[in-house]
Amino acid sequence: MRPARLLLSTILIAASAAAQDSETNSIVIIGDRLIDATGAAVNEDYAVVIQGERIAEVGPKDRVRIPPGAEVIDVSGATVLPGLADVHVHPAFYLAAPRDFEDDSLSALRASAILRQALDAGITLMRDLGARHNVGIGLKHALAKGYIEGPRLVVANGVVGQTGAHASEFELMVPSKWLLASDSPEEWRRHIRQNFKLGADVTKVTSPFTREEIEIAIEETHNLGAMIAVHAGGRKGGKPASPDWYSDPEMMMVEWAVAAGADTIEHLYPMKNQAAVITMMKEKGTIVVPTIRGIGRRTREPTESDTRFQLTPAHSEDRFRKMHEGGVPMAIATDVEGGRQGEIGNYFIQELEQFIAWGYSHQEAIEAATRVGAMACGLADSVGTLEAGKLADLIVVPGNPLENIKVLTRPILVIQGGKVVRDRRSTDSVMEVTPGKRHCYCPASYSPHWLRHRWRRKRNPGGRTQFGEKEIRRADPTGSLRRRFSRPSSS
Ligand SMILES: [Zn+2]
Repeated sequence: MRPARLLLSTILIAASAAAQDSETNSIVIIGDRLIDATGAAVNEDYAVVIQGERIAEVGPKDRVRIPPGAEVIDVSGATVLPGLADVHVHPAFYLAAPRDFEDDSLSALRASAILRQALDAGITLMRDLGARHNVGIGLKHALAKGYIEGPRLVVANGVVGQTGAHASEFELMVPSKWLLASDSPEEWRRHIRQNFKLGADVTKVTSPFTREEIEIAIEETHNLGAMIAVHAGGRKGGKPASPDWYSDPEMMMVEWAVAAGADTIEHLYPMKNQAAVITMMKEKGTIVVPTIRGIGRRTREPTESDTRFQLTPAHSEDRFRKMHEGGVPMAIATDVEGGRQGEIGNYFIQELEQFIAWGYSHQEAIEAATRVGAMACGLADSVGTLEAGKLADLIVVPGNPLENIKVLTRPILVIQGGKVVRDRRSTDSVMEVTPGKRHCYCPASYSPHWLRHRWRRKRNPGGRTQFGEKEIRRADPTGSLRRRFSRPSSS
C-alpha cells in the first residue's frame, strides 16, 4: 500500500511551487554531453529545460533558468540527445502469416508490442509504411487515447501499387489489403484519397509503376498536403533476365519519382542515370531511406537478378557513398515487420553501424537517426533536434555514443512529450555496454531475463539456439563446458 496521505501532501507542495511559474511540470536534465543534432558540435555540461510537453531552453548548465519546483535529473556520465526516428517499419504486417494464424486483432496486438519495444530502445518517432487493413490507423488512435504506448506514429495505411506489384505476393496467401491494387489513374487517386479519409498521414507507393502512375500519386498526395514515400525498384525474382537491363523501366523508376517530387525514396535501388539523379535529389531535397540491413544486401549472396540490377553489396556501397558525397540526406530505418519481436533496437544499431562502415561519421549517423528522420516524417518543425520550442522527445544514453554507437538504443531515460516514459537510472546492467562486445538488445534485458541471456551465452559460447542445455550436449561430448559453467546450485 502506498502512503497516500503523505504522497498527496508532497504533490501539493511541489504543485504550489510549480504553480508560480506555470501549471505544467518542469524537468531539467543535466548530462555530461548533449548532442542537439542540429549539426553543431557536442556540447559539454549542458542542460535541457522542459516545461510541459516542450523544450523551454537548451544551454550551459550554470546559465539556464531552472523553473521553481522543477525536477532536476542529473545524468552525469551520460549523453542527452533527441529521441530516435525509425522511418520505415511495418509493425502491423507479418511475413510469416501464411504459415501461422493471423487476423487483424492479432496483428494489432503484435504491433502494439513492437511499439512498446521501440520506446524501450529510445525510438520516439516511427513511420509505418504499410499495414494490413487499417491496423496502422487503429494503432495511431490507440496511442493518442493512451491505450498503448509507443513512438509518435506517422502511418501510410495500405500500400498503393499495381496488381502484382512488389509485396502482392503476400496478398495471394493473406488477403489483408496490404497492397491496394490500382490499375488506372482513377484507382491510384481513389486509393490515396481513401487512405487519407481513413486517417493516413503519408502515402506509400510501390513499384513497378509507369511514369504516369507515379506522377499522379505524387500530385494527388501533395494536393492533400502530405508526403509520399516511394519504393522504386526490386521487382521480385522469377522473371527472365533481360539481356539489356538498361532498357528495363525499373532502372528509370527512381528518376521518375525524384523528378516528379517524391519526398522519400525507400531502399537503395539502382538507377540508370545515377549521377544526374543524385544531383536532382540534392536540389529537390529528396530524402533516401536505404534500409541496408532490412534488404539484407549486406550479408546475402547476390542472386542473378541482384547482379543484373546492380544490387550486390559492392554496388550498394558505391551508390550509398556517392549519395553521401553528393549531399543527399539519408535516414535510418529498420524495415522491421511483425515477426521481429524484440529486435528493433538491435536492427536500428546494425543500420547505424552500416552507415558508419560506409563513410558516415558517428555524428552524421546520429543526425540521420534523429533530425533527418524527423524530416522524412514531415515533423522537422516539432521534433528531431534539441531546440527551444520543440516537443520534448529525448533520450539519455550511457557513456558517449560518439565513441560507441551501440549505446544509442539502450537509453537509461526516455522522455516523450515532456513525460518520462522509461527510467532505468537505477539499473546497473545498462551501463555495461562496451565496444566490441556482443549484447542482447532484448527489451527485457534489464530484468533477470538479461542475466539468463548472459548465462546462455556463457554456457554455449557462440551458440545460436535458445536452449543451451541440448546444444551443449551435442557440441560438447566430453562435458568440459558443462562442468566449467554448471550452475552452482545444481553441482
Ligand atoms: Zn518496407
